[in-house]
Amino acid sequence: MSRKLIAGNWKMNGSRAEWRALAAAVVQQAQGVAADFVVCPPAAGLADVATVVQGAQVALGTQDVCAHGNGAHTGEVSTTMLKEFGCTYAIVGHSERRTDLAETDGLVAAKARAALAEGIVPIICIGETEDQKTKGLTTKVLDGQLRGSLKDVRPARAVDIVIAYEPVWAIGTGKVPTAADITEACAHIRSLLIELLPDTGKSVRILYGGSVKPENAAEILTLANVDGALIGGASLKAESFVGIARAVVAKAA
Ligand code: PEP
Repeated sequence: MSRKLIAGNWKMNGSRAEWRALAAAVVQQAQGVAADFVVCPPAAGLADVATVVQGAQVALGTQDVCAHGNGAHTGEVSTTMLKEFGCTYAIVGHSERRTDLAETDGLVAAKARAALAEGIVPIICIGETEDQKTKGLTTKVLDGQLRGSLKDVRPARAVDIVIAYEPVWAIGTGKVPTAADITEACAHIRSLLIELLPDTGKSVRILYGGSVKPENAAEILTLANVDGALIGGASLKAESFVGIARAVVAKAA
């Protein structure tokens, strides 16, 4: 089994004291667990968390990046600034931003390119809504989102980008697709990656995201083409976040 990437999206939760405590607990509990970990606090928490994870097995990520370089972009944070904080991963195109802020595939691709140019690994999120799934449109939606969100994104190495398959209806709801549905979606994403990125697509990591917990992690993360997980709610407690990795490692042993 290849080493899994376990990424935590803390969303807009917590306080300075809570971010530091959570990061410290993740660092401590992740020790010796054979997985790669990344935590993505809110932008306001990056400095605090950076000092805690520095030199540890836990990488620092951001929940978003600006597609532009430094300049007149009020309220935004550039990739050069994020790099200075020690960010090595950036979530881009999360469905909450696609919905709340009307982010398009084109903007997501521009953000992915900006991250890549700064040596930050973009975690590019795609996924269908419940309505799209019900109408049998999942494959078509994933196809369009992946092609659009990878426009002119050219990673030199497979490890330079990550794709997160996150069915919108599974995020924060406790609902999870069947193993067969995840397998089919991730196989489709893999074949598209091979088509779009002939040199690297075979090995780009694909994460599953949507109501992952320690109890369901072993089944989901050992499916074909699932190379890790993007975790929201369960990443807010170190035991459940690291517990997800432990469950997968234990099943493989
Ligand atoms: C997410 O927001 O990316 C996510 C997967 O959330 P949750 O784990 O809470 O479903």
